[in-house]
Amino acid sequence: MRAVELIQKKRDAGTHTREELAFLVSEFTRGAIPDYQMGAWLMAVYLRGLDAAETADLTDLMLRSGEVLDLSDLPGLKVDKHSTGGVGDKASLIIAPVAAAGGVLVPMISGRGLGHSGGTVDKLESIPGFRTNLSLPELRQALTEVGCALIGQTQEIAPADKKIYALRDLTATVACIPLITASILSKKLAEGIDALVLDVKVGNGAFMKDEAQATALAESMRAIGTRMGKRMVALLTGMDQPLGRAAGNAIEIAESVETLRGNGPADLTELCRELSAWMLHLGARAQTLDEGRQQYDRLISSGAAAQKFQQIVAHQGGDPRVVDDPKRLPQARLGADWPAPAAGFVTGMQTERLGWATMALGAGRLRLEDAVDPAAGFLFHKKLGDRVEKGEPLLTAFYNEERKWDEAKRWLEGACEIGASAPVVPPLLRKTLS
Ligand code: URA
Repeated sequence: MRAVELIQKKRDAGTHTREELAFLVSEFTRGAIPDYQMGAWLMAVYLRGLDAAETADLTDLMLRSGEVLDLSDLPGLKVDKHSTGGVGDKASLIIAPVAAAGGVLVPMISGRGLGHSGGTVDKLESIPGFRTNLSLPELRQALTEVGCALIGQTQEIAPADKKIYALRDLTATVACIPLITASILSKKLAEGIDALVLDVKVGNGAFMKDEAQATALAESMRAIGTRMGKRMVALLTGMDQPLGRAAGNAIEIAESVETLRGNGPADLTELCRELSAWMLHLGARAQTLDEGRQQYDRLISSGAAAQKFQQIVAHQGGDPRVVDDPKRLPQARLGADWPAPAAGFVTGMQTERLGWATMALGAGRLRLEDAVDPAAGFLFHKKLGDRVEKGEPLLTAFYNEERKWDEAKRWLEGACEIGASAPVVPPLLRKTLS
């Protein structure tokens, strides 16, 4: 088999066999197919697509390019959640302990923030001492002892995706639904899970800006996961404003703890309740979704979920006292308010701009090797539809370097739109594909 023939086949809208895809994945991963040929093939896929069988084969081959965890000896179902990301999305930090407290095993491998979007691993690493780099045997031990492990991507998991994703980034082939499906699912399914809850974000702060695109991605991931024998659900949820009130790292941990204690913002609580209900239901700990929602309420009000988060933090080397006293998290030296330019209602939030502002403040990164400031972030005082007076703070920035605040202010300019009448706020939970 030769790579050039496979490029030609896809260029001419042909359908690949599993053997052809296996050749491309294995030869590229071991360095025998050069970047320029793989780049050409990726562009052919971008333009011609992959059908469901090709996408399932590509996913399976990419996940088998590295270690695939076998957790079948651990009693109980293993369930994870994946979010396509956005600004202020700390839902994983809440629903993983809730599901684990409810008896579901949660082996959660998450990413770091990149560009305008935050990452769970950076947020966790703002907890003093917290280790996200558990080895796979340590992950297994955490699941046995605590029922949950929150870790970062390891070298062993889906190395083919790592290489292909880096090339997609450089060849303008990221925004391609079958390639995104294979990329996300190859990493998630390598965790040895039985079920996956997908939170596909839609809106001006999401990867997918419109509902048709987000639905197509959700349907593709759900169909391929189901085809691969996993129980799958996909929720389409709004990202037309930051989720909750905090964006950053330590500041999002503090908000997660508040939410685990039942005092979180309404939108974050609504999302976490729904996602948790699905995790509990797919993990066979709730017979119906409604029972899952009630279980969420009980696990929050009894303190069991917050206690589980404390156990996870302690088990992974973090300072568990942050759960009772979030002031122990890194605190910024400086703070400043951003006042409303006029009186009225918040009619729009340019969420992606707010994400770039968060990054500029120091909380995010442009390249994966950049360092993040765990204390930097925003607290949003106003949400879509809220009434605001002229000069009233729309948000407060927390930062350590004046020049970073100057840079962030450039992104904030015009990012919160004020109008004379209250807008119709789109619902947070848009659609469920189950
Ligand atoms: N996130 C991923 O992990 N892969 C993609 O292809 C896109 C987003």
